[in-house]
Amino acid sequence: MVDAKKLKEIFLDIGEVIEQNKLYLSELDGAIGDGDHGLNMSKGFKALNDKMSQIDTDDISTILKTCGMTLVSTVGGSSGPLYGTAFMKGALVTVNKTSLDVNDYMNILQQALDGIKARGKSKEGEKTLIDALLPAITAGSKALSHNKTDKEILNAISEAAKDGMEKTIDIIATKGRASYLGERSKGHQDPGATSMYLILDTITKKVLGEN
Ligand code: ADP
Ligand code: MG
Repeated sequence: MVDAKKLKEIFLDIGEVIEQNKLYLSELDGAIGDGDHGLNMSKGFKALNDKMSQIDTDDISTILKTCGMTLVSTVGGSSGPLYGTAFMKGALVTVNKTSLDVNDYMNILQQALDGIKARGKSKEGEKTLIDALLPAITAGSKALSHNKTDKEILNAISEAAKDGMEKTIDIIATKGRASYLGERSKGHQDPGATSMYLILDTITKKVLGEN
């Protein structure tokens, strides 16, 4: 499904999608945070893609680890360490792999979720990127266990992430800067859940060859 070359192409696509949504992500963050989420993500994925063009390896684990470390070291906001941890955790379950199938992808997502929860001391329902990632994993795992095709599994992941992202509108934030607003955080979509959906959906589209 995905080898090192394709993985690097996926990161380039994510970088482009983040660039296209940079203002949107910062506007969402402006409503309930400090307005820098688009900038943070843009900075992080630019640095990540610069780094990718410099490393020459077929090893997926090395690539994911390098990506994670780059995000942690270049993004000042809380999203840098959180996404960075997600990638670094993904590296742990891809040791010695030169290609990934959908099963590997689900393992990476689960590790990423566990890493984010541990790093952010957070769980579902707190209006964070977890609220897009967790339902995506649940839907993907369900589709996988029902022997669905890769296309069905990847589409299920995208759809559930979108639904989870939209549902953050109704949640009162209890983690991150948005939690300072309490009740007033309700009625706004979480910027981190939005970037998480955009990333997962870009992966789906690239792997299915839809862009
Ligand atoms: P900062 O909040 O430091 O300005 P960003 O604006 O880049 O960082 O990212 C904000 C996003 O990070 C939020 O929308 C939320 O999804 C996510 N986030 C913040 N804190 C946590 C946490 N403790 N656990 C999980 N996600 C979090
Ligand atoms: Mg912010």
